[in-house]
Amino acid sequence: MIKKYEHIFFDLDRTLWHFDENSKNVLHDIFSQFSLSSYISNAEEFIESYQIINEDLWEQYRKGTIEKEQLRSERFYQTLLKYDKTDRNLSIEIGDYYLEHSPKQTTLLPFTVEVLDYLKEKYILHIITNGFEEVQLIKLNSSGIMNYFDQIIFSEKVGVKKPHPLIFKKAIKEANASINNSLMIGDDYYADIYGAKRVGMDSIYFNFYKNSHQLEIDREINCLSELMKIL
Ligand SMILES: [Mg+2]
Repeated sequence: MIKKYEHIFFDLDRTLWHFDENSKNVLHDIFSQFSLSSYISNAEEFIESYQIINEDLWEQYRKGTIEKEQLRSERFYQTLLKYDKTDRNLSIEIGDYYLEHSPKQTTLLPFTVEVLDYLKEKYILHIITNGFEEVQLIKLNSSGIMNYFDQIIFSEKVGVKKPHPLIFKKAIKEANASINNSLMIGDDYYADIYGAKRVGMDSIYFNFYKNSHQLEIDREINCLSELMKIL
């Protein structure tokens, strides 16, 4: 890259912390811990149903039509409901279990540590995340990558979520950076890439699953290790 960047802002979930793997691990635990085989034939089916419902509820959370407290148990309530099990208390218990165990999972995307080791010598690294603060801090600590980052910007603290321009502006300010010497790297086109573009920040779209798309992007990578060649 020709431009001289000084600050790199990473998204956390699905960019560095392997959300999908980590989530699956905990859902497998839940399936056995709460004997869900009484209602659902196997863990894979449970996980698939949960993921669809969870995605839908997250969409509602992003739009502001559901509170985070509600989301935490509602996703399990609706999943169980699909199998004719209506149990509010069980859903709350499972929601609590998920919340407690999920952030403690330690799987990172391939090459996360190698790339952070490489980048930290050349750039100042930061995180901008839409995730809940208390949860994201556990993930960063459990997976051992907390110390790589100078600033961690939480949407909850700013009051708006990516792609709102305010969270990027706030991040730039807190990092003592400028739009021109900053780069955003993330897996979510709308939140990370479109969000960065709106404030004029360059970005790299991390398309780990190699989803085909027609999106307008500056640059795309499919593996984090590519960053060691281009940055
Ligand atoms: Mg993400």
